[in-house]
Parts: sequence; C-alpha cells; structure tokens
Amino acid sequence: MIEGQRADFVARFATEPHGFSMAPGRVNLIGEHTDYNDGFVLPMNVQRHTSVAFHPRGDGTVRAFSEHARQAVEFPLGDAPESLPAWARYVAYVAAALAEAGWPHGGADLHIRSDVPVGGGLSSSASLEAAVAGALLASAGRVPGRTLDQLLRDAGRTRTDLALLCQKAEHRVGALCGIMDQFVVLNGREGHALLIDCRRLRGKPVPLDGTQDLAVVVINSRVHHDLAANAYNERRRQCGEAVRVFAQHIAGVTALRDVAAWQWEEFRDRMDPLVARRAQHVVTENERTQIAVEALRAGDPVTVGRCMVASHESLRDLYEVSCRELDLLVEIARGVPGVYGSRMTGGGFGGCTVTLCRREAIEPLRQAVMREYPKATGLEPDVLVTGAAGPARVQWQAE
Ligand code: ADP
Ligand code: MG
Repeated sequence: MIEGQRADFVARFATEPHGFSMAPGRVNLIGEHTDYNDGFVLPMNVQRHTSVAFHPRGDGTVRAFSEHARQAVEFPLGDAPESLPAWARYVAYVAAALAEAGWPHGGADLHIRSDVPVGGGLSSSASLEAAVAGALLASAGRVPGRTLDQLLRDAGRTRTDLALLCQKAEHRVGALCGIMDQFVVLNGREGHALLIDCRRLRGKPVPLDGTQDLAVVVINSRVHHDLAANAYNERRRQCGEAVRVFAQHIAGVTALRDVAAWQWEEFRDRMDPLVARRAQHVVTENERTQIAVEALRAGDPVTVGRCMVASHESLRDLYEVSCRELDLLVEIARGVPGVYGSRMTGGGFGGCTVTLCRREAIEPLRQAVMREYPKATGLEPDVLVTGAAGPARVQWQAE
C-alpha cells in the first residue's frame, strides 16, 4: 500500500513524504450500545487501514487530499472554515482539537488513502481521525523517526488521551459517538480483542489465537437505512430515562452500567414498557459481554457464540436497531456447520454482521451468503475474513 502512496504523494505535493501514519478499522465482537451507558464492549481491530502520508510544513497550514473523496482542501491549523466539505471536517477538527488542547502542532501536507469501507460500519471515521492525529503529531515532532508512543511521551500524553481528542473531533462533526471506536483503534493489540471498560477508560487485551482454529468473518450487508442517526439519539434518551427511574430506587446508579439484571426485574414495572425493554438490552448485554470474555479466555468458543446470538436477538427484539438484511445474514450464518455465533455489529439499521466460526467453516459460510443473500435482497454482500490487527502507528520513510 505504502509504495504506491509514496509516488502519489510526490505527484501531488512535489516532495517526498516523511512517513506514514496508519490506523485500522474495527469490528465489535460483542457489547453493542453499551459504551454510552458506561458499560463494557469487546471490539478488535480489523486488517483494513487508513494510511496518511505526511510531510511537515512550518507555516501552520494543513493541506489534505483524500483519495476516497477525490478532493483536496487547505486550511490554517486550529481554524476550520465552515465551508469545508464533510470529510475534511474530520481532519480539521482533529487538528483544531490538538491545537486547543495544547499539543504540539505545526502544519502538514497529508495524503489520505483507506481500504476501510467508508460508512460501512467498520469505523472508517475513527480510523481516519487516529491516522490524521498521528500524522499531525509526527509532523510537529522535532526529531524524525519517533514512534507514535515516543511522540506521545514527548507530549506527556497517552494513547487514551489521543482517543478522547479524536472522539471530541467526531462529536464536533455531529456524531455523538461513544469512546469505543477511537479507544480500540488506538489501544488494540494484534491477535487480541480488547475488553474496554467505558467508564474507567481501561482496556484489557483478550487473546483470540488461544483457540488456533477460530476465525472472525465480517459481512457487509451493503445497506444503510436512514433511521440510524435519529434512532441513536432516541435510544440514548430512553437509556437516560431508565437511569432516572433506577436511581430513585437504587443508591449510586448514574448509568445503566450500575444496574444488574435482577435489579432490572425488580424495578421494570416502574417505567414505561418501551424504556424498560431498552434498558433490558443494555443491562443483559453488559453481562453477556463479560461472560463472553471469560469464555474466550477459557477457550470456550461455543459459549462466546451463544452470547453473540443472544446479543443479536436482544438488539433485534428489545433495542430494535436491526433490520431485515442483518437478520437474514445472521440466520444464514447460523445455518452453516462450524459457526459458533453471529450478530449485527455497530449501530444498526445496516452495516455489518460479525460471525465467529471454525476456520473450515469460512468457505461454506461465504458460499451460503453469496448464494442466499443476493437472491433475497438483490444486494451483493462483501465478506471480509480478518485477524485482529494492531493499533495506530507511525512509520517513517527509510532514509
Ligand atoms: P463508519 O465510521 O462506520 O465508516 P461514519 O459515518 O461514522 O461511518 O464515517 C464515515 C465518514 O467518515 C465519511 O462519510 C467521511 O466523511 C469520513 N471518512 C472516513 N474515511 C474517509 C476517507 N478515507 N476519506 C475521506 N473521508 C473519510
Ligand atoms: Mg464512524
């Protein structure tokens, strides 16, 4: 990927890039709609990346070109003009957030290439933010050749600080996302999923290759229903309403994270039935996520798979964020021998499913999906088999 990008950078900016800042996309194995409830999530990075080639500029200007957008923009650091196209706001707001928080910055030429499907539920947005942040930090560093961790140490900051800054930039773009995406893209570990405690902002790597035979398959439904943004805000509001009721009866409840399933049973009648169902999903999903982590550690993929299926059914029936296409992909996967479990992943109403299976089930799964899904929907699904990739990093050009 990098060699071709180097040549394209030179063609565009008439100078050599000093290096490349790369950040993966991610897929969530379990723990859906729990992050903004202070709960637990279990994502991993996928082997798809945004790569940002960079060359420092001393004049405080950012020039950025996105291959995906086929567009170039230019703006002064820390001052994002209103006229910027949507994609460039991710770049500009990351730059602005870095500047506002007093991080070292200088300006840079940036060339953005990505093989993360954009808007496909694998968090191309967090991937873009993290890769841009790394490129700007590297461009500002006085000493070339520093790794991302060294650059962060120079600035007295951590990868988690950078994740929070990227989240802030995404909020400014207008997507009120939780912290999961930016956190795993910056803190994930190769060969591992990451159990994130979204309240404490701590991540614990959970090995995936303990079970040699395990495969993760991500299937893009190729649909995106417009309901997503409204429904997301509505769910957040409903969760807040449930918290207010629980807090009246249970001391110390500030988020659904603090409510156990038995407490939900006890107080469910005190709230609107729809709000109770939303809360039931979050409360049980938090428990399932922790059970799935224990099972992964114990080398018990059967239990992990069961948790994934229960998660999907809960998202479909209680949280009501699935759709016909995602349900169908999950049903097809569940019919394939060697599949442990399958569920929708991401916000819902389209995007991807994630399936855990034995390696020997990959091809039969691919064939079943290619045979049955287009027939029922008229859509061509995209099947990605992926190991767990490492986190965002900076790679310098060889001298
Ligand atoms: P997801 O994060 O699931 O891919 P989002 O809607 O959160 O979907 O983010 C997609 C948006 O992020 C795009 O509409 C675009 O504005 C921006 N984006 C992501 N990757 C790129 C890229 N390589 N070039 C330009 N914009 C990108
Ligand atoms: Mg996103």
